[in-house]
Amino acid sequence: MSHINNPMEIFKLLNGSNCRECNERTCLAFAVAVFKGKKPIHACPYLEKEVIDRYGEAIEKPNTVDEYKAEAIEVLKQKISLIDLSESAKRLGARFSNNKLTIKIFGKDFSVDTKGNISSEIHINAYMVVPALNYILKGSGKSPCGNWITFRELTGGPSRYAHYQQCCEKPLKRVADTYTDLFKDMLEIFDGKQIVSPIDSDISIVLHPLPLFPIMVCYWKPEDGLESNLHIYFDFISDDHLDIESIYTLNEGIALMFKKISLRHGA
Ligand code: SF4
Repeated sequence: MSHINNPMEIFKLLNGSNCRECNERTCLAFAVAVFKGKKPIHACPYLEKEVIDRYGEAIEKPNTVDEYKAEAIEVLKQKISLIDLSESAKRLGARFSNNKLTIKIFGKDFSVDTKGNISSEIHINAYMVVPALNYILKGSGKSPCGNWITFRELTGGPSRYAHYQQCCEKPLKRVADTYTDLFKDMLEIFDGKQIVSPIDSDISIVLHPLPLFPIMVCYWKPEDGLESNLHIYFDFISDDHLDIESIYTLNEGIALMFKKISLRHGA
């Protein structure tokens, strides 16, 4: 592991284009943010995997984003401990036994008990736990209607769309572009079902990050000089289950999870 002593050492690893894809104004600002632990080094999409592996651990400071999520999770657990979970289970069509409500996240069990304690069959990151708990607290129990809409069409979507594209769709597209076969495998590992989509894409897979909250991931491979593309679609009734912040966080979590797996398992 290489040790980093100052921001300039990080700056020297960057391409200096100031392209802003990391949401910082300049590469130097990004280097400072990474050094202070405000951004992970892999937030620059132009760094080679080998550089991330070599320097990632050396400069990643306590992750303030994760700390923030941890606080949000504690607040939600408190709220869960104050509600009648068996009633929530009825509303959501979820299982309730031994004082635990269980829902499926990507087809695997995720449980919360009446004291707010969480257990899960799969490792899910903090980004996914927040929307899962919000879904248990506020989900309407309505079944998906099968009409797909974009993030921009969700309530509150337009004002968050640019950020959503930057932090959710673009990182997923990069994974799909770089590791196309692995990307398709990952979608299927997460219990995705390939469908004949009304949208004419090369890959159309429906995932269930939450039981009544499907998303459809559509990917177009590059072709005849056209760039590749990726969009995530939502069921028309998605607003009934999660607010826009939770939908955003859920998708950010999915993008991070896929990125992490691809960096670990990609060729
Ligand atoms: S994404 Fe990378 S290259 Fe672009 S501004 Fe940020 S640090 Fe620089």
